[in-house]
Amino acid sequence: MLTDRLRSWIADAPPLPAFVYDLDALAAHARRIRDAVPIEVYYAAKANPDAPILRTLAPFVDGFEVASGGELRHVLDAVPFARLAFGGPGKTDSELDLRADRVHVESPRELARLAAKRRETDVLVRVNLAAAAADRAGVALAMSGPFGMDPDLIEECHDILASAPWLRLRGVHAHLSSGLDVPDLLAQSREILDWARPWAEKAGIENPEFNLGGGMAVDYSSPTRTFDWETYGREIARLALPGETLRIEPGRAVTVYCGWYVTEVLDLKPSHGRWYAILKGGTMHLRTPVTKQHDQPFTIVPNSARPVRDIEVTLVGQLCTPKDVFAREVPVTEIGIGDIVAFSMSGAYAWNISHQNFLMHPPPTFHYLTP
Ligand SMILES: *Cc1c(COP(=O)(O)O)cnc(C)c1O
Repeated sequence: MLTDRLRSWIADAPPLPAFVYDLDALAAHARRIRDAVPIEVYYAAKANPDAPILRTLAPFVDGFEVASGGELRHVLDAVPFARLAFGGPGKTDSELDLRADRVHVESPRELARLAAKRRETDVLVRVNLAAAAADRAGVALAMSGPFGMDPDLIEECHDILASAPWLRLRGVHAHLSSGLDVPDLLAQSREILDWARPWAEKAGIENPEFNLGGGMAVDYSSPTRTFDWETYGREIARLALPGETLRIEPGRAVTVYCGWYVTEVLDLKPSHGRWYAILKGGTMHLRTPVTKQHDQPFTIVPNSARPVRDIEVTLVGQLCTPKDVFAREVPVTEIGIGDIVAFSMSGAYAWNISHQNFLMHPPPTFHYLTP
């Protein structure tokens, strides 16, 4: 599982814990997505907005989806001239002053506040069809609740748009759930289009744009099984009608595989019949296994003179809370103090969602592997 490049990086005894991003692998993965998917692809920056990652992705994506004024400014700093779609609930007045190629409008009230700016702006209205999505098997996260507008509520947009000709309605945006495999995602896309096409026609949009959201499945229990971009790309292309622009905005499935959290075993002990390995750092750096309630996949690089063999071990961090767990009771052939542990699939919703200051341990270091 460890790439040769990561192995030789570890052999140089780097300062740990560290986040390591394999930018070469990221570029290859992004190229695969680009080649497979013939519709527009935006990267959802909130999955991992690290600047070298954004710059690596830029040649392979049509733009970036940002979900706050902070992300918007940050992405433009990292990738000047990038096309941006600006979404997210609860945009403030000063955020609505920021320029984006597309603003994803989340409520009639937000549309009215944008209209009051009297500035030429291209908008997509975000529809919430999440009740249907929540029932779908396999959904990891249904975006029901305050995201977008119910079909009833979105009707209020027509009058606001009619009185604000400087707002150009370009189409419809929907991001209904995440964690969907190809068949479910395609079924969801069809549902969105079935709703959005008549709505766009009634609103008089020529050449409408339909942003179908992100949410492509990522399986943390099998790090080598990736989303089937080739089948997805082939099928989604068949859904597009002439004159339409279809767009997706994946996050997790783009960057998750390029990141590693690498650390070392500080202590190893049995406690009431269970083995615990205490690792330098913790879930204040890599919060993903806590939020997703999963075992983070890992590889051990042996470095110990006296390892313990054939045990089930729980990998924990340095925090004084029983919730600081990376992986629970995982069988290992050997593990010892001083071993290096490399957690894979740490490239999305990992460092950037973590609470690094809890307990005031030193932050991780950051490294980028390039050819
Ligand atoms: C988070 C988010 C995405 C990306 O979702 P992933 O599950 O990371 O692919 C896309 N669009 C919107 C509106 C989002 O909030």
